[in-house]
Formats: sequence, C-alpha cells, structure tokens
Amino acid sequence: MKEYRSYTLYNYRTIPQIAALPKEIGDEIDIVGRVLPFKANNYVVEELIDWQQVETDPLFTLNFPRRGMLDSRHYAAVEKLVAQQAPQHLLDAKIQQIRLSLNPNPAGQEHNVPYLGEIKLRGIQHKYPETILFFPSQGQTCHAYCTFCFRWPQFSGMSGLKFAMKETDLLLRYLRMHHEVTDILFTGGDPMVMQAEKLSAYILPLLSPEFAHIHTIRIGTKSLAYWPYRYLTDSDSDDILRLFSHIVRSGKNLSVQAHFNHPRELSTDSVQRAIARIRSTGAQIRTQSPVMRHINDNPDLWCEMWRKQVDLNCIPYYMFVARDTGAKHYFELPLERCWNIFRRAYRKVSGVCRTVRGPSMSDHSGKIQLLGIQEVKGEKIFVLRFLQARNPAWVDIPFFAAYDPKATWFNQLKPAFGEEKFFFEKKQKPVIIKPFLFE
Ligand SMILES: *Cc1c(COP(=O)(O)O)cnc(C)c1O
Ligand code: SF4
Repeated sequence: MKEYRSYTLYNYRTIPQIAALPKEIGDEIDIVGRVLPFKANNYVVEELIDWQQVETDPLFTLNFPRRGMLDSRHYAAVEKLVAQQAPQHLLDAKIQQIRLSLNPNPAGQEHNVPYLGEIKLRGIQHKYPETILFFPSQGQTCHAYCTFCFRWPQFSGMSGLKFAMKETDLLLRYLRMHHEVTDILFTGGDPMVMQAEKLSAYILPLLSPEFAHIHTIRIGTKSLAYWPYRYLTDSDSDDILRLFSHIVRSGKNLSVQAHFNHPRELSTDSVQRAIARIRSTGAQIRTQSPVMRHINDNPDLWCEMWRKQVDLNCIPYYMFVARDTGAKHYFELPLERCWNIFRRAYRKVSGVCRTVRGPSMSDHSGKIQLLGIQEVKGEKIFVLRFLQARNPAWVDIPFFAAYDPKATWFNQLKPAFGEEKFFFEKKQKPVIIKPFLFE
C-alpha cells in the first residue's frame, strides 16, 4: 500500500527536495500559494517532478506556485504584509481582493445552474441538452492542485461560489424530469477523491430502469495523473474497480475523462498499471488537457502524449485553450499559437489519435473550436465552429472572426468581413436555417 501524503503551505518546507532548493524558491511558494491553489503529494514529488531542472520543469510548474504566476503588484502587496507580520484579517482581506480580481468564475458558469421548481440546484450545471455536470459535495477537492485550475474558488474557501449539492435526491428528481439528458458527468474538484462507498451511493441509483435514458456515466478526474494508487493499492481500490465493472455490466457506458497535461504523467509504472486495471473493467478512458505556456506548448510533446495515450488504450478527446482565470497571464498563449501546436501535432499522428478535437474554448455560448487561419479575398481570418453550443442548432456551422495575432480568448475576437455580430449573436436566424433544410 502506498501511503498518501499531501503537502500544503503548512508543511511543504519539509519536502527534502524543496529544502535543498535556493531559499527564494521556497519563499515564493509561500507568497503565491496564499493566493492560488496549492497542494502537492508524495507521488507528484517523488515520481513526476524533475528536481534537477526545477527552474523550468513543467511538472513542478503544474503543482508549485511560482513568482511569475502573480502580477508583480499583487506579489509585492502580499509579500509586504507577510514581512510585516500583519494581522491575519488584513492579510485575508488582501488575498480575497486579489482573488476576486482574477476572474474566479469564468465563462458565466453560474448561468448554467438549473432549477427544480423554486429550488436552485447549485450542484448541477446543465448547459447542453444531452449532458449534465454534477458536482458531488464530497468530491470538491483533488489529490493535488493544478496551478492553472479554473475551479480554484472551490478549494480556496470562497464558499459563496461553491457549486455543491449534498444529496443525490435532487439530482435524481431532476433527471426524472429531463429525459433529454443522456450523459451525466461527475466532476469537481475530483470525484475520485471520494471513498468507493460514497461514489457508489451517487452512481448506483442511476442504474435503475427509470433512468434508462442515461446512457453514459462519465467521471472527470485527474487521479490517474496525480494519484494512480487510487486504482492500485488504496484500501478501497478493488471496490472502485468492482463499481466500474458493475456499471459496465448494467449496460451503461462508463467513460473516465482523464486529465493529462504532459507525457511524463503517462510514463510511470503505476499510472500504466492503473490504466490497465480501469480498462479491464470495460470502462473507457478519454483524455483532455489545456494547452499552456510553460507546461506543454510544443507540438512534439502533444504528438508524444496522444500516441502514448493510444498505446495505453486511452482515447484522445479534447485540447482546450487555458481558461481566462487565475494565473492566466502566465499560462496563456495566442490562439494562433494554440492552433499551430494542435495542427503540427495532429498532422503527425495516425487516425486513431485524431479523435482529439481542439483547440477549444469553453465560452458562455459553447465550446468553440479554432479550425484554423485562412485568407479570403485578401482578409486574414480565423475559422471557427461550435463543438458544443448552448443552442444545438449552432453546432458545426463554420463562422469567421477577424485575424488577431494577439488574441488569447474568444471574447477578444471581432466578426470578420466587417460584420457587426457573429451569426449566433443575431436575433434573426437566417444563417442557421439553411443547415436545417438539409436534415
Ligand atoms: C464539455 C462540456 C460538456 C460535455 O461535452 P461533450 O462534448 O459531450 O464532451 C458538458 N457540459 C459542459 C459545461 C462542458 O463544458
Ligand atoms: S485536477 Fe482539475 S479540478 Fe483539480 S486542481 Fe487540477 S484542474 Fe483543478
């Protein structure tokens, strides 16, 4: 059994590899880690991070806060209060103020919270008709935290923004009334931090005949990358695998949506064994990751990652553009660069890896894929389409934005060809009627 040890601001200096680093690096973790999510564990520390190259190591950057992740004014403000040993309430107020300035709830996630009669279902998001996101309240933490995470208000005690629901009861009531829902995605945080017993309590009711309209149960998780022992040696690992087998045998599709940001996360013996065990239950594993500066902004790395995933029997699924939240200035890449990374990797891999779609931006209106850059009658444009849309009629219709070499997110783009609005922003719907006629 591998014993799980987590490291936070309170004990990270006890990590021998940290103690051996120049003192500034440790001090910077202390300052930045007060604002951004910070949690690492012994697997990440011992098996993933390359301590010989801490200055540039992507796995270190993924888990340990660095100075550059905070705006220099914010950094200086927190550093000063800490140095002065300012009273806790002053420090807390400053940190809260900084966090609120970092767009803690991007892409209007709060707009997707549905109602059951008068009851607001804070633990559910229902944005696309066929899929709901469910945030089980016990799954709102992770085995380690990503420094780029957009779910960080959930971990930082900003409870007003916490999407969580205690009971399965409301979920089931909602699903009884929504037969258009075919997929339920358990998400967090990370639902796989839950004990098998808790997870079963949420999932087993969904296997009963009245929920025959639910075809797919998905579990979004970073556990394979951060704590593969979840499926190997944790005290309830076997129960988890039995639950997975049971779901599959009940006739539903079980898809583990695994987050992998770097090929090294796929390289350890333990992750490979964990993947094999999950696959042996009949569950599928689909993979996704944002593309980010300092972590994975390199086409060869993506090529290697997708190939490795397919070797291990996983299905590459999404490449996302990093969200406009938290330390976004540190991780963000121009959209043009994201697309170049995508296509340079995509063109090198065979069709079995080309199940992946991206780069995709999860905007208020939907998941928008940057299909590419083209020139039409002398005007350089971005070609885009919805992979998922608030209004399903918008899906798959190419549309065009003016080329902008600096743009890093959809909200910075303007329609091409001097148009005032994108087709889906117009009140009338001439553009979207046509494809309907073909159906
Ligand atoms: C991505 C996403 C889904 C799932 O979409 P698929 O394309 O079916 O994987 C559901 N809800 C939200 C809010 C999403 O961002
Ligand atoms: S695993 Fe996911 S939810 Fe958890 S910190 Fe990383 S990005 Fe956030």
